[in-house]
Amino acid sequence: MEGGHNPAMGEDCLCQQQDPALARKFLLDNREHRTLVDESHFDVSLIRCLACGQLYLRAWYELIDWVNSEDSQADWWFPIDDELGDRILRVGSAVNESVIDLLELNGRYLLHAWPSGATSYCQWMDGRPPHFPHD
Ligand SMILES: [Zn+2]
Repeated sequence: MEGGHNPAMGEDCLCQQQDPALARKFLLDNREHRTLVDESHFDVSLIRCLACGQLYLRAWYELIDWVNSEDSQADWWFPIDDELGDRILRVGSAVNESVIDLLELNGRYLLHAWPSGATSYCQWMDGRPPHFPHD
């Protein structure tokens, strides 16, 4: 698989607004959600913004903190085009970190992380979305 480029569509939408926390909130409130992987500590879904139609690949990771009960969580939202979305859909529940790596995603994406014992942060990033440890 190849070609995880950022599509041009959706650039003026609130889901792409400058403030990453507001963009994420907008997406959470205005989305069509299709879950591909739904494990208790790892989740992959395709999310469509209902306002502009932009498709996002979202991955969510959770690592249990058995000592202090401050579980780390992270999620990222990477805009993809519909063609790539169809290919991911065909992989379905077999999508994992290796499959995501094969997509060679590279571009602007939204990252939200809650590190254990630290302040959460939300920001626009550029490049390849990282994988986080999860249980
Ligand atoms: Zn949008």
